[in-house]
Amino acid sequence: MKDTPNIVEILWEEEKLGKLASMGDIVKRKKAEQAIKHSLGFEKTISVVSSLFILNYNNDAALNRSLDEMGSFTGASRVHLFLLRGNGTIMDNTHEWCKEGVSSQKHNLQSISAEMLPWWMGKLRNGETIHIEDVSKMPSEANFEEKMLGVQGVRSLLAFPLKIGEKLNGFIRLDNVFTTGKWSYEDFAILRVCSEIIGNVLERRQMEGALRESEERYRAIFEQSLDGLYVHDFEGNFIDANPVALKMFGYTKEEISSLNFSSLLDEGQIPMVWGAINGLLMNEADKGTTEYHLKRMDGTYVWVEIKTSVIYRGGKPYGVQGIVRDITKHKWMIEEYKKYQWEIEQQNIKLKELDSIKSNFLNMASHELRTPMCSMKGYVQMVLKGSLGEITKEQKKGLEVVLRNTNRLDTLIQDIIDAYQLESGAMKFIPEKTDLQKMMKEIAETMKSSADLKEIKLNTDIIEGLPDLFIDQKRIKQVLINLVNNAIKFSPDGSTINIQAKKEQSDVLFEVQDFGQGISKDKQNMIFETFYQVDSGMKRSFGGTGLGLSISKDIILAHDGRIWVESTCGGGSTFRFTLPIKPVKDVEDRFKEVDVFRLETERGTKREEHVIQRG
Ligand code: ADP
Repeated sequence: MKDTPNIVEILWEEEKLGKLASMGDIVKRKKAEQAIKHSLGFEKTISVVSSLFILNYNNDAALNRSLDEMGSFTGASRVHLFLLRGNGTIMDNTHEWCKEGVSSQKHNLQSISAEMLPWWMGKLRNGETIHIEDVSKMPSEANFEEKMLGVQGVRSLLAFPLKIGEKLNGFIRLDNVFTTGKWSYEDFAILRVCSEIIGNVLERRQMEGALRESEERYRAIFEQSLDGLYVHDFEGNFIDANPVALKMFGYTKEEISSLNFSSLLDEGQIPMVWGAINGLLMNEADKGTTEYHLKRMDGTYVWVEIKTSVIYRGGKPYGVQGIVRDITKHKWMIEEYKKYQWEIEQQNIKLKELDSIKSNFLNMASHELRTPMCSMKGYVQMVLKGSLGEITKEQKKGLEVVLRNTNRLDTLIQDIIDAYQLESGAMKFIPEKTDLQKMMKEIAETMKSSADLKEIKLNTDIIEGLPDLFIDQKRIKQVLINLVNNAIKFSPDGSTINIQAKKEQSDVLFEVQDFGQGISKDKQNMIFETFYQVDSGMKRSFGGTGLGLSISKDIILAHDGRIWVESTCGGGSTFRFTLPIKPVKDVEDRFKEVDVFRLETERGTKREEHVIQRG
């Protein structure tokens, strides 16, 4: 409804001088006019402040201008923007606007500890507006705040928090340094709306700062990485490459920016790149790496290993990032390794061929050498016995030498064949039930003639009631004969040799004791090694091959027994070995495992320990 004012005409001596409206109407109209003006001012302030930031949100000038607008609108003496740092523990007055003639306080309001203002900060953290009509009448818990504000000459104030999410980021404070009194509803409103606009601006500014920092960090990592890094778009056109990648590719940054990844590849590899890019785009991110043979600018090639992933900008796929490593050396080493492996395989083939030649030779040797040896021995023995007619004493002596040497030759051939058979696992091994009394007697009889030659007395002590053993009798006899043979060989004429067998717990213990030259401590383990002889070289005074003890040891180990020696230099030696009473299973298989020539060092060592331990 239209409001018509109550107008009275003013007359002077019948003349119309003017019209007079009543006072009540004027006040009403003034108020209405003021309200319109205020509302226009309010809208103007808001639109100026927001447009400032739309146009230039990052500029301090925009903040200063906003404070100016707020101050002008509210009639405040000063407007301050405070920001918190150090996780909300320290505040600084970063921006300030002062009415003409009002002194600035900004320089006094830097690095203030938030802890000193618990009442003030508590309210702001709760998101409350602080409205103080009279600074001199602040509550007692705000004692410090009151003093501080007093020093700044503040009489009344209005403050509003700036929050990012739940976190207090700072606040805006309107001061009146002239009078105390209430701040108006419009002042509240303008402070609140402007604080929200400024709060949003600051939040954006903070986020952009963080983004810039993370971009800078990424750039630093990209540039300084020890791995090659590059980025290309989904067509393969290079966008960027770091110094390591550039060095690997052999191009400068400018040159690479006009290149496509495929131009570094030979034809055949190009489909691999598209396959990889498509895989990445279809989210089949290849977790592994791909190897490429890259063509560098100077025409040389480099082998690289590349791991790719999609990178995003603003939430959208931006390109493909590759981590590239030079594996040329690694590749070369693999190639070399393969070459060596091939050479070793070839050598193994050759060795096998040689082995088979050796095997054939030994086969041939065993037959072709031993057969005539047997007939030679037979005929010599027959002549010696006089079966082919009378012979003279000199002829007999000569034939005895022939027979001795034929025997030695036969033993040598047999030892070599045995050692080879042990090594190759080809030795036939036939366990049988064995009467030990009988076996020992036979050995004593066999060895008697050799002992007699040196007038050595053989003492055989076989304890009665020894159990029968399930052993390869021929092989165990071979061991005993070798031990007795050695005892005779290394004993002086006219001495004694004791041969003994007795039961010891679950084993039968065999002993061959002589009182000959003995073996020094440091040689006692070595004598069980193939071809080892204490007295070796051209000066040696005893015959033999150095194979006997090595063969003996393997035969005993195959029977699950132990063999060792106790000896003192000049005091004689006692060789001992054990055989288990319980029959040994899979003897032949065990036998195949022995490594007579110590080709497998580790096993050789184990067996060495075995002997030392027991010995
Ligand atoms: P060979 O007797 O054919 O030389 P062996 O393997 O039987 O081979 O013996 C190896 C070495 O051990 C002998 O050459 C000798 O030096 C030493 N040896 C063996 N038995 C005795 C012993 N009873 N007394 C002293 N030395 C011995």
